[in-house]
Amino acid sequence: MSADLLPALLEQINGDARRHADWGRVASYIPELACVDPAQFAISVCCVDGREYHAGDVGVGFSIQSVSKVFTLALALGRFGDGLWERVGKEPSGRAFNSIVQLEVEDGIPRNPFINAGAIVTTDAVLGSNAPRDTLGEILLFLREAAEDGDIHINDSVARSEYATGDRNFALAHFLRSCGNLHNSCDKVLGTYFHHCAIEMTTAQLARAARFLCGGFAGQRMIGIERVRSINALMMTCGHYDGSGAFAYRVGFPGKSGVGGGIMAVVPNVASIAVWSPGLDRYGNSQQGTAALERLSRDTGWSVFS
Ligand code: GLN
Repeated sequence: MSADLLPALLEQINGDARRHADWGRVASYIPELACVDPAQFAISVCCVDGREYHAGDVGVGFSIQSVSKVFTLALALGRFGDGLWERVGKEPSGRAFNSIVQLEVEDGIPRNPFINAGAIVTTDAVLGSNAPRDTLGEILLFLREAAEDGDIHINDSVARSEYATGDRNFALAHFLRSCGNLHNSCDKVLGTYFHHCAIEMTTAQLARAARFLCGGFAGQRMIGIERVRSINALMMTCGHYDGSGAFAYRVGFPGKSGVGGGIMAVVPNVASIAVWSPGLDRYGNSQQGTAALERLSRDTGWSVFS
C-alpha cells in the first residue's frame, strides 16, 4: 500500500473506533486508572522513511504500564546478555499477566519477561545495587533518546495508587524472593516497577520510541539487530499474555500491550506503531486498539507472515 493512503486510512480507523459502542472496560484494580474515560482513541505510525502519521487523541498522555517492560528488557539484555535467561524464560505463559499459579510449579522462574513476575525479575536485574532513582533515570533516558523527546515523565499518583493496591504483585515478588530469584527487597523492586509502569506518553511519543525495534534509521544506535530480533520475537509470542495467539492471528506483527490501553507494535523494516484506547478486553488488552491494528494490517497488507 502506498504511504500516501495512510492518512485517510488512519482517519477511517479513528472513526471506526469512535462509532463502536463497545469500548471495553478500563483497568479498575489501579484506582487512578479506573477514572480514565474509556471513550478515547489515538493512533500514530512512524514509517522507516521518517514520515509520520497520526489520528485521534494523539496529544493525550496515557499510562504506558506493561509497555514499559519492553524498555526494561532492552536494558537488561544490554547489561546481562543471554545470562538474563537463567532467571526468566522465553515461553508464552497461556495465563493472565498477573498469574501466580505457574510460578510455584516452575520453581520461581517466570515464563517470560512480559508477565508481571518476569518483569519484576527484569526490574530487579536492571536495579542491581543501584538506587531506584538512578535506575528510573536510566529507563527514562532510554525512552527519551529513543523517542527523541525530553518531555516524557512518570505520573507519581499512578505509581502510588498501584503501590497502595499492589498486593498481588507483592505476592509474586515475595514468592520470587523465597526462590532466590529476587536479589533486592520486594519493596525496592516493586517501587521501581510501579514507577516505570506509571510513565506517561502520547501515541506520537510511543510510536517514535518504538523505532528502535523497527530496523533502519533510529534503531541501530540504541541496540544491535540481534537484540531487536529477540525482543520482537518475544512481543509476538508473549506480548499480549493469554491473548497473544489471537493477537498474532488477527494482527500478524509483534506488539506489546499495557493495562493503560496502549499497544506498541512493530512491522520490521516498515513502520513502528502506537495505538491507545483505555477500555480493555478480558485479557487486559486494549479492545479498540487491537481492532484498529487488525484493520491497519488488513488494509496495508503489513504482516510478518506473508
Ligand atoms: N503495572 C501493571 C501491573 O503490574 C502492569 C500490568 C499490565 O499492564 N498488563 O499489574
